[in-house]
Amino acid sequence: MNNIINEFYIINRFFKKKINDKCVKLGIGDDCALLSVNSNKYFIAISTNSLVSGIHFLPNTNPSDLGYKIVVVNVSDIMAMGAKPKWITISLILPKYNEYWLSLFSNELFKQLNYYNIYLIGGDLSKGKLLSITATIYGIIPINKQLTKSNMNINDMIYVTGTLGDSAYGLEILKNNIKISNRKHKLYFINKHLRPNPPLKFSQKIRIIANSATDISDGILKEIHSMLIDTKYSAKIYLNYLPLSKKLKKYVNYNDALNLVCNSEDYELCFTIKKNNINLLHKLNKNTKITYIGKIIPYIGKKLLLLNYNSSLLKNPLGYDHFN
Ligand code: ADP
Ligand code: MG
Repeated sequence: MNNIINEFYIINRFFKKKINDKCVKLGIGDDCALLSVNSNKYFIAISTNSLVSGIHFLPNTNPSDLGYKIVVVNVSDIMAMGAKPKWITISLILPKYNEYWLSLFSNELFKQLNYYNIYLIGGDLSKGKLLSITATIYGIIPINKQLTKSNMNINDMIYVTGTLGDSAYGLEILKNNIKISNRKHKLYFINKHLRPNPPLKFSQKIRIIANSATDISDGILKEIHSMLIDTKYSAKIYLNYLPLSKKLKKYVNYNDALNLVCNSEDYELCFTIKKNNINLLHKLNKNTKITYIGKIIPYIGKKLLLLNYNSSLLKNPLGYDHFN
């Protein structure tokens, strides 16, 4: 009987793993998972993200890259809150049973879950026309230590981690819109797209001194705009300060680079911090590249004041929108 392929078989074979976590009272197998968390000490941070074939990834994407990315895009939201990722549930919609696909996907999935110490505690399986992967991640954060999006103040300095735009360029390469003959460089960009690396440790370290933060999943300017939306502030952004990798500058002209930056899933952290805390920031941060890119200012009738470059040359400064 055990060679019958059904949901039970798929879950047991590919997704049910031993869970060594005192907080998980019940994992995969029942109608719900049960978590026991010290609610006097922690808030639970929860976020959901989907990867839909043809929308979030090219239909020919390697399943192992999807196993990687479904974890990391969710970790990125937890990172942006300054929280610690702990548990995840995953809903899979598959066009058909495909053992090869499931084993590559789940191997890389668990590799990443192990890396971050996250436990898979449940999910759902369904057949459907389009491959689609949705995950809900649960993290913990000491009560009231969360790093929210819009808690900034006037004169806060705006910083960003890493470099921007490489991921968007990697996507152009994957779509065959661009050809690069240097294999090492080609892999660099593709990797930035398929295997982003959100600065999780960094955000946990700086959450005590930063005022506000968000992760960059849709282009930096769109993200800063969304941080400001419910505030009485605007931001002054020095476009010439936006951090570009040497490689990106080698392959594209400056205008193209900025256009890529506006549409790039970089999964870096953008945060604001009071000027007096800058020394502390540099003391706390040893390994992460950070760049000052602008300032929070009183509202000026629009949310973004883009400086040091002719921003009318940007095709779509506010990036990708699913419904526009
Ligand atoms: P129900 O019909 O009660 O929703 P399911 O058959 O969907 O139950 O799921 C059975 C158990 O397997 C549940 O504990 C569920 O959380 C878990 N599960 C289902 N799909 C997945 C998945 N893709 N990954 C991990 N756990 C899963
Ligand atoms: Mg179900």
